[in-house]
Amino acid sequence: MTAEIISGTQIRETILAELKDEVKQMQTKYGKVPGLVTILVGENPASISYVTLKIRTAESLGFYEVQDNQPADIAEANLLALIEKYNKDPKIHGILVQLPLPKHIDEKKVLNAINPNKDVDGFHPVNVGRLMIGGSEVLYPPCTPAGIQELIVRSGTETSGAEVVVVGRSNIVGKPIAVMMAQKGPGANSTVTIVHTRTKDLASHCKRADILIVAAGVPDLVKPEWIKPGATVIDVGVNRVGMTDKGKAILKGDVDYDKAKEIAGKITPVPGGVGPMTITMLMKNTVRSAWFHFGGK
Ligand code: NAP
Repeated sequence: MTAEIISGTQIRETILAELKDEVKQMQTKYGKVPGLVTILVGENPASISYVTLKIRTAESLGFYEVQDNQPADIAEANLLALIEKYNKDPKIHGILVQLPLPKHIDEKKVLNAINPNKDVDGFHPVNVGRLMIGGSEVLYPPCTPAGIQELIVRSGTETSGAEVVVVGRSNIVGKPIAVMMAQKGPGANSTVTIVHTRTKDLASHCKRADILIVAAGVPDLVKPEWIKPGATVIDVGVNRVGMTDKGKAILKGDVDYDKAKEIAGKITPVPGGVGPMTITMLMKNTVRSAWFHFGGK
């Protein structure tokens, strides 16, 4: 049996349409829209393309969008002052600092300077703490894990009581998604195991998973025989494994997709699975922030 493909591209469109409606409701109720600033330091081509995509998506939803480009040699103190300016700006509800920053700037210091109530990336320690507490404490779940949870829920996968195995323990994917799936509440209530490079028998853990979330950054790490028949497989990995004749990167996930889709019940492709969800969830967090700052729905 071939698995049902969980299309992040399609789910993104559904969520963006929902957000567009919310922005309209917000305009009707408060006469205002969500405001997002993207701060780009320097001219890293990958960062420029990410920021451009974020800006385009924000504009398509009717946000107030500020693009603040700064030279690569900006002093750390000036960048901190800029963040403080946006922290105080009532038209701005989300502040994004595109990473990586130049070496002379302390990234942690900069991210920690963002007002946690405008930290729509969800990386500020206050928001990490809120995520750990769970429930109504959570203001901004980090975007990639939030996207993974949406894919699981919107694909109709049962999470309550499910064995979830997360491959990877990074601060941006593995650890937060593990915490989110273990929380008490809808779309969660799972029994979660985290595995990593020191795990003794990776295969035996993966084989138990009703929901297997793989975020290792190793192409084809997960073999088809490690997948429990009928499992939902979320492949977060994005690995450049070559170039097409036209100079486009060939991407592969962490799961041997062609064989895995013959065993899994549901599976995300790479590209087109988790990838499109990250920016979508950033937009969702910005809308959430705007409601929060305006006084609620
Ligand atoms: P990371 O910080 O490099 O963490 C990778 C994790 O995987 C680590 O915890 C590591 O274990 C574990 N790992 C690596 N090789 C392993 C192996 N052979 N066996 C078991 N565990 C192994 O990576 P990340 O930032 O979480 O990203 C993971 C992947 O997701 C990357 O391909 C990245 O490009 C992709 N990603 C995609 C999106 C998106 O689509 N929007 C967003 C973020 C990341 P140790 O801790 O023991 O070293």
